[in-house]
Amino acid sequence: MTNFAKTRAMLDIPEGMIYLNGNSLGPMPKAGPDAMMRFMNEEWRTELIKGWNTKGWFMQTNTIGDRIGKLIGAPKDSVVVSDTLSIKVFQAVGAGLALVPDRKLILSDTGNFPTDLYMVQGLVKLKEDGYKLRTVAPAAVLDAITDEVAVVTLTEVDYRTGRKHDMKAIIDKAHSVGAVVVWDLAHSAGAIPVDVLGTDVDFAVGCTYKFFNAGPGGPAFIYVAPRLIETVEPVLSGWYGHEAPFAFDTDYRPMPGKIDRMRIGTPSIASFAILEAALDIWEDVDLNDVRTRSIELMELFIHEVESRCDGVTLAGPRNMDERGSHVSFEFEHGYPCMQALIERKVIGDFRAPNMMRFGITPLFIGEAEILKAVDILEDILKTHSYREDRFQVRSAVT
Ligand SMILES: *Cc1c(COP(=O)(O)O)cnc(C)c1O
Repeated sequence: MTNFAKTRAMLDIPEGMIYLNGNSLGPMPKAGPDAMMRFMNEEWRTELIKGWNTKGWFMQTNTIGDRIGKLIGAPKDSVVVSDTLSIKVFQAVGAGLALVPDRKLILSDTGNFPTDLYMVQGLVKLKEDGYKLRTVAPAAVLDAITDEVAVVTLTEVDYRTGRKHDMKAIIDKAHSVGAVVVWDLAHSAGAIPVDVLGTDVDFAVGCTYKFFNAGPGGPAFIYVAPRLIETVEPVLSGWYGHEAPFAFDTDYRPMPGKIDRMRIGTPSIASFAILEAALDIWEDVDLNDVRTRSIELMELFIHEVESRCDGVTLAGPRNMDERGSHVSFEFEHGYPCMQALIERKVIGDFRAPNMMRFGITPLFIGEAEILKAVDILEDILKTHSYREDRFQVRSAVT
């Protein structure tokens, strides 16, 4: 059984803050500052360029990738970590298209995170020649997977509503018509059990700064099914993916038979120091326990809000099997209401047009925080304190 008191003690939550935003930016691991200082003083400062060999920097994309792999059901040597999630989406969809050269249609849904759609729109523009992106409503995805489709690209858990796709059903349908699937695990990795190998995922991508707590701008990851690694086209053909980076050939040859070919260029080694400290917290965590606890807490939260707070409406499914690990409520005055919550140290966020979003992260959130948060929300709604002028001002990041 996962010891959530222990995981909580390893994370630094400011005194008095109820942090319901670990789905967007996880809190700082207490070991983070020391890990960063150790990297500065004992690696960069003393080793300088030797560090690429002596401190293993050159292969951290892979060694850390393996640690992330364990948390998404990926076997060793099938995940590399670096770059940003937007770049990884581009890379995975591009690689997927190359695997199905006779088709030009990419299918996604209207609930996908905009950057995923934007990256695909950019890719389509670059490729010209009849490539097209079709987006359908999330519930219509399964039926829209036809033998015209080359790549299906979806985010498993909807960033706004928390609605979760039936990953296995979509993969099976896609494979039955010869299409390839790219899954974005941004709101799944570290939130719910994911089994990329067992469900036969082709490509998966995700970030580390959400549920994994690696800090703002923490690097992204990409998984490629072992059966594809031999043949997959890297698309972004950088020197880190070359067969012999230090041969300095003028022609690109992808690293044969290895996930290394999905590497691009020099990663942010400093950010790896924090990521490693963040992953230490996951060493004794069982994601099945996280899921069980998250469902209990989401049910409690929804029940308490619905019985005490007027005017707010649950977004997304009621059936917890169809939900990730965050809960959003639609409310006409969602933006100022969230600002009023934040002023009272209940930290969630707002997603246009009207959603107040709350991440449920059992590593550091328990029943006491849920109940306290609902007390404060109830009070704000009853007293209409969200109407105050200072809550109406929109910040750049909501
Ligand atoms: C958070 C998130 C992103 C963010 O992409 P970055 O490149 O890290 O800014 C992309 N896609 C989804 C589905 C997300 O939830």
